[in-house]
Parts: sequence; C-alpha cells; structure tokens
Amino acid sequence: MDLSYIINELGEERKNYFNAVSPPIIQTSNFAFKKIADLHNAFEDEMADYLYSRGINPTVDILRKKLAALDRAEDCLVFNSGAAAIFAGVLANVKAGDHIVSVRAPYTWAQKMFDKILPRFGVNTTYIDGTLIGNWEQATRNNTALYYLESPNSWDFAIQDIKAVAGLAKSKGITTMIDNSYCSPLYQRPIEMGMDLSMQTATKYIGGHSDTLGGVLSGSHEMIKKIFDSEYLNIGSGIQPFNAWLLIRGLRTLPARFDRITRSTAEVVKFLKQHPMVETIIFPFDNSFPQYDLARRQMTGACGLFTFVLKTDKMESIVRFCESLQHIMLAVSWGGYESLVLPKCASIQSTAFDAANREHRYVRMYVGLEGANYLIADLEQAFDKM
Ligand SMILES: *Cc1c(COP(=O)(O)O)cnc(C)c1O
Repeated sequence: MDLSYIINELGEERKNYFNAVSPPIIQTSNFAFKKIADLHNAFEDEMADYLYSRGINPTVDILRKKLAALDRAEDCLVFNSGAAAIFAGVLANVKAGDHIVSVRAPYTWAQKMFDKILPRFGVNTTYIDGTLIGNWEQATRNNTALYYLESPNSWDFAIQDIKAVAGLAKSKGITTMIDNSYCSPLYQRPIEMGMDLSMQTATKYIGGHSDTLGGVLSGSHEMIKKIFDSEYLNIGSGIQPFNAWLLIRGLRTLPARFDRITRSTAEVVKFLKQHPMVETIIFPFDNSFPQYDLARRQMTGACGLFTFVLKTDKMESIVRFCESLQHIMLAVSWGGYESLVLPKCASIQSTAFDAANREHRYVRMYVGLEGANYLIADLEQAFDKM
C-alpha cells in the first residue's frame, strides 16, 4: 500500500460526513441502537461495532487503520500515551510466575513497570545487553514469556538484531514486543521482521507538534483482539477522539517532516563531529556508530535524535552550555517541530557527577523543523560560552 494513500485516504469515508476533507471529531461517549439484536451483537463483540467510546470510536478508527497499515500489521490499538500502550502490551502477555527478558535501560516507564509493578504479581525481569544475540538465549528460562526490545534505545541508541531475536523467540514459543518509537514505521518495520507486537509513542513523530500524547500497539488480529477485549477496555486508556484527530493531522505531514529532519540532522551532526568541545557523537547512521552495519541493514533511515558527548571535566560547563542556548529548548520529549537538548547530568546529583563516566557528559539533542544553520549558530554561541 502506498504511503501517500495510507496518509491521505485510507480509512476516510468522506461521503459519510458531507465530503468534508478533514474528518469529524465524533465526540460522543455512546452510540444508539434501534434493535435489541444489534445491541446484543455489540455486547458479544465490542470490537466489531460502535457501542461505547472506551472501545471503538469512528474518529479513532480512521487513525487506527492508518497506523496499522504504516506498521504493515493486521490491526492496531491507539492509547492515550505510549506508556499506556507499553503497559497494556506487556500486561496482556504475562501471568503470575512468568519471566521477562528485557534490554537494559528501556524507556523509563517500561522499566518502572518491570521493577515496581510486575514483581508485586510474581513477574520478574532480567535485563541484558541486547546487542548480542547470545545474551537473549542465556537469560531465557523455562518460564520466560516475553522478550522486550527497544531498538534503537533513545539515549545510547543501542540496537538489537530484530530478526535474530524474533527467530530465537519463535523457536522457544516466547512472545516478542518492541518499542519502535525512535524510527517510527517510516524507518523501521518490526512486524515484517517477526516481532509479535510493535509499540510506538505517537506523542513524538506522529503528533509532531508537541501538543498531544498517544501510543500505538500493532500486531496480528488475534493479538490485538486479545488486548482489546481485556486490557484495553479494562484500563480504559484508549485515545480520545480529539487527540486522535490531532494525530491524523500530524500524520499528513509525517513524511515531509522526516525528509526535512533527516537532512538537517545530517548537517548538525557534521558540525558537532568536527567541534573541539565534542568527544563523540552517538547516532545510528553515523559511520562511527558501533552497530552501524546492523543499523543500515534493518533501519531505512535515522533522524532527529542523537547524543553527543561533551569534552569537559566539569558539570558546570555542561550546565552553562545548555543554559546558553537561545533557541534550542531544554526539555524532555522529542519528535515535535522544536529542537531540544536534554543533558544526562540533569538526572544525577551534582555531587555524583563523574567526568570519567562518559554517560554523565551526554547531551541528547533532537533536531526539529528549524533551519540547520539556525541551529548550528545557536550551538556555536553556546559552545563559546562554555
Ligand atoms: C516518549 C517515549 C515513550 C512513552 O511515550 P509517551 O507517549 O510519552 O507515554 C516510550 N518509549 C520511548 C522510546 C519514548 O521516547
């Protein structure tokens, strides 16, 4: 299916709403029936009909069809945030006594779920360096039910050989789930590589304007139906119609934004690589990246988000650099129109800062839609003040 068709047409039945080009926001909690028999059928299979908006809603459906097609998946569910999608996807695939193997340092709220919530129900997690396939095999136990991947990671961009991990999991009957937020389905399609569930936050690139949250879980009809009937309806964290509408709007420009961000990122990375205050740059599509070949093999692109390591032994210089930026904002998140930085030292006590630990000198940068030269000039003047 053509990308343009998915984004501009798929799921949009304009004749049903006055041929309006932009779809309506069907802001309703419930749907009326004429016949008891129809109501009965909706109770039997809530996914097949409009009954109540905690389940299926027409505006959300348009988005669902597009996002599933982008992932080349049979179906998907859209949640109120990426964290909610992670929660539902994991919860649906473990039971008391099960074991999870996860990449080390996954997204914060995935890790909090593994460390704080699941152990209360007898589900424990082993973290591994997921870059080596042997580590997955080694960490697997008889009760391992789920492999949790995040490729690339959103700080050091460590990647996993997705096909190899999927193959291993299939041979052992283990379910696989991946956080694909960094690439989005435009630059990586994990379902095609054998993953059972592909998750992405829609807050970042899909929304694209830093004005809404959302999360996506894609997979087979069977897997998605299982999650819908239980976790999705029970947690009640499905996306609301207005937010779904914002995400449909965001999708319209996703390929155009990716093209621009990809080009600007290359220019900003090139500038930073030659700067004397920068020790290293960590970006999957830079040829200095340790897993460059694998990145090129399984990702069709990389853009926007990377980390650079500042050459300094003082935390104050990192602070001064970040606080001196005039246009690039200091904030969490990424994927919007605005460029951002986030230094690792913001999450450690200043007394614990250790310049010998390379990670403490990480500055994560996201390149938004500004001109590359505008961003480079801002970085340049902040380096001067460092
Ligand atoms: C932001 C993010 C999430 C969570 O998404 P929210 O929409 O903020 O809940 C998950 N994984 C990664 C890699 C992220 O960057």
